[in-house]
Amino acid sequence: MQHHTVIAIDGPAASGKSSVSKALASRLGYLYVNTGAMYRAVTWLALRLGVDVGDAAAVEHLMQQAAFECVKRDGSSSFLVNGEDPADALVSPEVNAAVSQIATLQEVRRRLVSLQRDCALNQPLVMEGRDIGTVVFPETPYKFYVDASAEVRAARRAGQGLEDSVNQRDAMDKTRKESPLLIASDAQRIDTSHMSLNEVVDEIFSRLQAAGIRPPSA
Ligand code: C5P
Repeated sequence: MQHHTVIAIDGPAASGKSSVSKALASRLGYLYVNTGAMYRAVTWLALRLGVDVGDAAAVEHLMQQAAFECVKRDGSSSFLVNGEDPADALVSPEVNAAVSQIATLQEVRRRLVSLQRDCALNQPLVMEGRDIGTVVFPETPYKFYVDASAEVRAARRAGQGLEDSVNQRDAMDKTRKESPLLIASDAQRIDTSHMSLNEVVDEIFSRLQAAGIRPPSA
């Protein structure tokens, strides 16, 4: 089905892709969609209901019972689970520790990828995640892989005061069977280790302009 323009931003944990994607979407006037929040929301629900995140059949059952919805709020997309926004609970240490296991499950990915594709039916987007350029929107010509050294990523996450085993999540995300994190062959890789947020956004914005993308008012 025909969809609007999608800017795909993939990369490992704490690479800075959320801040970059949000700022880029705001500059372009596009909707910002954080797909990590969707995997986190499913994890949050499983933990809350005492469902074992390693039990594929139990999580699949949970997915069938739950209602998921993406709503637009101030240029960003929020993900509601049974009508509720988990908000800050999405980045709890418990969710950080379990989310990459939930993300290995085929049924979880199938359902969330379908919701992610629907997001682009009504408006252009900047969508961030792990498999946006490889699986969700492989046909988009606008793909970036945002990266940073392991030291810089650990320091960024520590600076946010969040408990998160970034390396462990990355290892699981890169080696899983379903849609692993990898650099799409046609993605532009940007190493942000020594760049400020503004520098990264400027760099991607100018590459998009060179490729013919214009903000709505330009
Ligand atoms: O982006 P964020 O770090 O919040 O993502 C949390 C986790 O969700 C990732 O470590 C990964 O396991 C999973 N994820 C995924 N595919 C995506 C986005 C996130 O598997 N498109």
